Amino acid sequence: MAEDTPMDTPPEGDAITPRATSTESEPTNLNIADNTQPHIEATDSCHTREILLLEDSDPKSFATSPLIKVFVGEKRKEYNIHKDVLIKGSPFFKACLSANMLEATTNEISLPEDQCCAFDLLVAWLYHEKTYKVANNTRAVLSAMKAYQLGDKYSMHDFQNALIERLKGFMDRVIMWPGCFTWVLAHFDEASPLYRLMYDRLVWILVNGRYHNLGEFESRYMGELEDILCRKNISIKILWATMDLAKKTTVCPSKVKGCHYHVHAEGEACAIINEEETTSKKNNKK
Ligand SMILES: [Zn+2]
Repeated sequence: MAEDTPMDTPPEGDAITPRATSTESEPTNLNIADNTQPHIEATDSCHTREILLLEDSDPKSFATSPLIKVFVGEKRKEYNIHKDVLIKGSPFFKACLSANMLEATTNEISLPEDQCCAFDLLVAWLYHEKTYKVANNTRAVLSAMKAYQLGDKYSMHDFQNALIERLKGFMDRVIMWPGCFTWVLAHFDEASPLYRLMYDRLVWILVNGRYHNLGEFESRYMGELEDILCRKNISIKILWATMDLAKKTTVCPSKVKGCHYHVHAEGEACAIINEEETTSKKNNKK
């Protein structure tokens, strides 16, 4: 579309539904008190007034929707979240707040099994579609992984994928404690992208000798690693995977691009790749 295209012009190629241009046989549905003007001509200025009236009576902001009390964890920590934000962010909450559910009448949801450290991240995502750099401490890593688990529970794929990218970024900077993988082993099966990422990274680290020369941290690393390797089912798998990987030169899992460790429904577009493409187009224009 040319830059001087007037406002509100439909995109080229779209079917145009003509507006009424005569008020004789087709009265407008505007209810504007104006005795001097019994018929309102459907001029551009009139159209603008019509839009302004509509905008005034039909707000689109999430802030006009009621606040839902969400009680999280055993201690029932109370979060107040706008209903529209919950509905937009997750199919689970949408179903929960649909007409014939108890939660929709009480405007309350209880999530006793969830933890606040993970739910905090979920709320930041619901309102801002943002995740944050994972800090270099066990609590931050576990919080990100627990938040990933919430994303899984509440079918929030974009949130899960954004967290995976953050965890990959963390792995790029830091050699993760093997104990983090122990947590993943207890909560996910091997089909989960988080499981695959952690497993691939562990195997890559073993092959590339990254668990050596860790100084004062070595005994903790080795202790946590032994805890994984003493599990017969996983240790045999890791043994074969390391032997297999040792024959090849492969990129570190944390540097793998694309959707390899993402969750997507059939035909679902990847928000992360879309964002990367938009950023690269913007950079190319500069
Ligand atoms: Zn993707």
